[in-house]
Amino acid sequence: MIDDITRQRIIDTAQIVEVIGEFVQLKKRGANYIGLCPFHNEKTPSFSVSESKGIYKCFGCGKAGNVVNFLMEHEKISYADALRWLANKYHIEIKEKELTQEDIARQNERESILIATKFAYDFFVRQLHHTDEGKSSGISYLEKRGVRSDIVQKFGLGYSPLYNRAFFEYATQKGFQPDVLQKAGLVNKGNYDNYSGRIIFPIFNLSGNVVGFSGRRLSNDETIAKYFNTPDTDIFHKGQLLFGLFQSKRAIVEKDQCYLVEGNLDVLAMHQMGMENAVASLGTSLTIEQIQLIKRFTKNICLLYDGDPAGIKAAIRGIDILLQEGLNIKVVLLPEKHDPDSFSKTVTDVAFREYITQHEQDFILFKSEILLKDTAHDPIKRGIA
Ligand SMILES: [Zn+2]
Repeated sequence: MIDDITRQRIIDTAQIVEVIGEFVQLKKRGANYIGLCPFHNEKTPSFSVSESKGIYKCFGCGKAGNVVNFLMEHEKISYADALRWLANKYHIEIKEKELTQEDIARQNERESILIATKFAYDFFVRQLHHTDEGKSSGISYLEKRGVRSDIVQKFGLGYSPLYNRAFFEYATQKGFQPDVLQKAGLVNKGNYDNYSGRIIFPIFNLSGNVVGFSGRRLSNDETIAKYFNTPDTDIFHKGQLLFGLFQSKRAIVEKDQCYLVEGNLDVLAMHQMGMENAVASLGTSLTIEQIQLIKRFTKNICLLYDGDPAGIKAAIRGIDILLQEGLNIKVVLLPEKHDPDSFSKTVTDVAFREYITQHEQDFILFKSEILLKDTAHDPIKRGIA
């Protein structure tokens, strides 16, 4: 918890025009500042900020509040995180209060896992870009897959060297304790690197902290799992995170729609094709927590699937959970044998976007069509129908 004195200090220090100015282009108009409202679509500015009153108000959609409300609404973060955001911007030290010994121990552990994870992230990124092995194995793999370098940067991709103590040795040299590295899921019980020889897809939480990794093997060696994901840690709960959400959240709000794809590379391909509102569920089937996460940004979900029968079945499975959560579901079937990643390599970005927007169909209709088709080919089911 942030104590009241610090909270007040943060609110008193924060300059609303300066903070909102980071997200909205503001122009001085009389005593106030005006700009285009970030919460609804408009061509003439009706969003007004009052420096003296410390509030903003949109005369178009009615959104209003103080600087903390703005951050909560715009960045989709909690009250406490909005305060932390401001404290960070204005270099105000936060002292957390009323913690038991147990809380402190747990918090320290969480904190050290977070620090070790960030340390590993920096290591992996450096390995990819600044070592011969990273360039010859990692970069060349990404180039072969057609991933553009701006996308590599945007998603903070990295590389973990083949030598399976490379990270462990470096980290312990820098003072990290083996048990922290284990708890962070970076090394196994024998202190061997968990991600060696893999391309690293970092997973960010909504505040932009790296909390875990998804590592993809580079070889075709089927005896090794294709992906290795961070096991659940104090900071990483797979079922509560979505790959790409941090990079996509702004576009999801703007477009008021979220594309759900199956793999990390599909998310990258979508961004590369100019559809920056795409997330993937980290290799699990969708959980309620993940759906609620998306719901904070939009109620409109569109599922992209491989157009073969297995893809269609996958599209139908698990959709009820989305409908129960009151979401509007659309489905796009890609040309047979294609996922978004492979499809994106066969067409221009314009054709890619056109295909997807033109093939969005309502899920309920989609499902009944499939069932009808099924019935038509099946005399027994036809009899029942
Ligand atoms: Zn508005």
